[in-house]
Amino acid sequence: MSRPAYIGRFAPSPTGPLHAGSLVAALASWLDARAAGGRWLVRIEDLDGARCVAGMDEVILGQLASLGLVPDARPWRQSARDAAYAAALGALRARGLAYACGCSRRQIDDALAAAGRTHERGGERVYPGTCRRGLGGRPARAWRLLSERAAAPLVLAWADRRLGAQRQNVTAEVGDFVLRRADGLYAYQFAVVVDDAAQDVSDVVRGADLADNTPRQILLQRDLGLPTPRYLHVPLVLGADGAKLGKSNGAHALALATPQERLDALREAARVLGLPPLAAATPAAWLAAAVPAWAGMMRDFDMETSA
Ligand code: GLU
Repeated sequence: MSRPAYIGRFAPSPTGPLHAGSLVAALASWLDARAAGGRWLVRIEDLDGARCVAGMDEVILGQLASLGLVPDARPWRQSARDAAYAAALGALRARGLAYACGCSRRQIDDALAAAGRTHERGGERVYPGTCRRGLGGRPARAWRLLSERAAAPLVLAWADRRLGAQRQNVTAEVGDFVLRRADGLYAYQFAVVVDDAAQDVSDVVRGADLADNTPRQILLQRDLGLPTPRYLHVPLVLGADGAKLGKSNGAHALALATPQERLDALREAARVLGLPPLAAATPAAWLAAAVPAWAGMMRDFDMETSA
């Protein structure tokens, strides 16, 4: 079977109901898929059982359906995909690109301090590479990706459909990042790459907070011999404190009980995305009008960013 031209996805973590911010990502990915005549998938990213809320996947799917956003296939759940992640980790190990790490957080901090490196990026430490040459007798805790190739830094350049040309020195800015955590859970980066490829995703459309994860994901795609999708990172909804809207700064579950509330929620998400106001009396009519409006807006973006 040949690969369909466009497959998009919305990949919510079921830690809470959809809110104004997550609806923006859901709507953008749906509109982009529909405008391309493609398929739209929903993937439930429920790897971290401690953060997930039981039944929230069904709540999110119900909210999406009430808005008219219905996936074209049964949603995948990452919690059922351990065997695929294990196989991909095995492939990286076989290529000498993943190694076991026996360091505790404390040991990493001490090694960084001893090297005079205080650089922290979004609360993440750039791993000092202690276990690259072996565990030194300690038990393996996590698995990490080697972020150098032939002792040269990895500088990844990629083009985002909205943000344009992007670049990251993965070696210096991220370092040997974790693929499988000490608690046995596969890391977000790793699971997303394995699943996007397994689902033949051609286009990733998601919030701009994830843009700086993209170079890590492209690196993993290359190391695993997988294709790289196109990327579009859409604007975030900010809370009153200027930070990305989330549970801690006022993300309320959306009010979607009446057609008017559903229409308002769609209109508000569309405003964040930069779509012009659309005349429509029902959510279904609004969605039908939004698809060509999105296509027109994105044609301009795609032309600008590929120029
Ligand atoms: N599950 C991630 C989140 O809820 C999104 C992953 C992605 O779109 O790549 O933020």
